[in-house]
Amino acid sequence: MNALDSLLDTLASKPAQAYLLVGHNPAAFARALIAKIYCPHRCGSCSHCHKLQAGTHPDLLWVTRSGKRISIDQIRELQQQALYAPLEAPKKIYVLEGVEDLSLEAANSLLKILESPPAFLIFLLLARTQNLLPTIVSRCQVIKLPKPPEETIVSELRRQGFPPDAIEYLLSVTKGEPPPPDLHPSRDILKERDQLRQRLLQAQDPELWELLKSEDILARYETSLEILRRLRRWNAAEILRAAAMLSDSPPDVVHSFVQEATYWCRDLLAQGTETARFNRDCNAELSAIKADPVKLTEALRALETAPWKWQRQNANLQLLLESLLFTLRAALL
Ligand SMILES: [Zn+2]
Repeated sequence: MNALDSLLDTLASKPAQAYLLVGHNPAAFARALIAKIYCPHRCGSCSHCHKLQAGTHPDLLWVTRSGKRISIDQIRELQQQALYAPLEAPKKIYVLEGVEDLSLEAANSLLKILESPPAFLIFLLLARTQNLLPTIVSRCQVIKLPKPPEETIVSELRRQGFPPDAIEYLLSVTKGEPPPPDLHPSRDILKERDQLRQRLLQAQDPELWELLKSEDILARYETSLEILRRLRRWNAAEILRAAAMLSDSPPDVVHSFVQEATYWCRDLLAQGTETARFNRDCNAELSAIKADPVKLTEALRALETAPWKWQRQNANLQLLLESLLFTLRAALL
């Protein structure tokens, strides 16, 4: 039994009322935990197992965003439903994805249920980072899910059928997270990468921001990098325009850009050390950038606190992004 399995056993045997799952593949962990809570032996043949498999378990509610993020209406609906006892299992389980994207209003509504949930209710909150309202975090047991070692990730990607030369690139794109289902081994991702880079080189700004919003993870990744490249030569007016465009994008787009910028800065800061890069596909390019470590550290701090600031303080996103982009430019020059 590995560490993760025994953690699952411990949690499932006496579940707390609210968990915040952050880090590597929280959705997969949530599914495993739910299965264990409903059927400790995961027999595969009882009614709980069958209904979980079919996605029809009446006591499980899995909330994903409808539109840009989970809406205040979805949270209100959930508040209503929370009053009713479970139908078939001893516990009702509510899963909320992308909790870091909740608006302040929605987060406060959620907080109300988290403060005094009915005893039969378990919350699993899924987030990419722990940069959330501290009042929400403090009501949850935080489970940080570590990334598996690289060999495990690589052999899993091989097992899925990705060719060896594509895996290196894939690791840069997903940073070791499992690739989304539409990123199938049958896609020639290296060819797609080259075509994307070609297209991005010529893309005018409107096209750039459209591509950043793409659902396709390759397009989003390559576009984020292109924006970071252009940022170095943008003047003040162009940066202000970029902040306006970015603040107009859905929250998950802003998040993924901030995330890529963070990895880029970390790679630059690790320059000259033995640490493996996140963007290993860009090794040569990264080595050619001579960034100032002090300014990089400042930029990293700004990047890491940004999501928290705009959720907690309901700060003006556009202003925040303006200052963030200027700080970034200073670090990347
Ligand atoms: Zn079962």
